[in-house]
Amino acid sequence: MKRIMLFIMASLSVLVVTAQCLKIEYAGNALSKKEQQLVEQMMVYQIKFYRLFGLKDSLKVKLTVFNERSVAEFYLDTIGLSKKIPVKNIGGLYSAKRKEAVIMEMDKNRKRGLSVIYHELSHYLTREITGINPPVWLMEGLSEYFEHCEVGKKGIRHSMTAYEKGRIRSMYMLGEVNLRNFVDADWNLFMKKQRTDERYAYILAHALTTFMLENVSRQFLSDFITLLQDKTDMAKVSEKIARVYPDGFEAFETDFEKFCE
Ligand SMILES: [Zn+2]
Repeated sequence: MKRIMLFIMASLSVLVVTAQCLKIEYAGNALSKKEQQLVEQMMVYQIKFYRLFGLKDSLKVKLTVFNERSVAEFYLDTIGLSKKIPVKNIGGLYSAKRKEAVIMEMDKNRKRGLSVIYHELSHYLTREITGINPPVWLMEGLSEYFEHCEVGKKGIRHSMTAYEKGRIRSMYMLGEVNLRNFVDADWNLFMKKQRTDERYAYILAHALTTFMLENVSRQFLSDFITLLQDKTDMAKVSEKIARVYPDGFEAFETDFEKFCE
């Protein structure tokens, strides 16, 4: 019965933020009214950020939430996604082809589930501003950034956890950070780092993105994303950063290391 219920629940929300209009198609198990409100507040916040880098007026994404992992896995089988992605340990995923975020087990911890929703929906907007293949650390870094935002009475606040801050400091102390290799890494290398080294890749991506969003001028981020949007420019990501960061890549590395202290 559960499986038949999935699609009856679908509903549509339309958020309008100045020029942008985002339609969220909800499917799967229903969120509570309060949860839906939080998701929509967060999406308004995200759109206000992403629109600085050129977002089209009409946006649409599907959000499919499952309370139970077994049902989510069945769903991923039926749409053929479980063949491409190892789904055993993930909390959620985003399919660029389907423009759909899937949340695996909302009932396990609903607050955590909301953070996963913020993360996966951010992937949609990152792809909208950068085209199909953004650097993996930027893709995951932006999603981690929004995942670590909390919607409170006074607005939305971002923070890095004490564990993450400690982990970054120890990475620097042990000489484990090679920022040039990290920003130039492809998906395989990034995920290898993630698997072999205590979440190294996501934490470093989160810290680097936080640095770029909170400590560096918006002009840099905007110039950098403009370079990424140019599909004819085959230069390495570190070279693109060097071109737009004041005083080049070494200065970028030094400033980031200072930020991490
Ligand atoms: Zn992600």
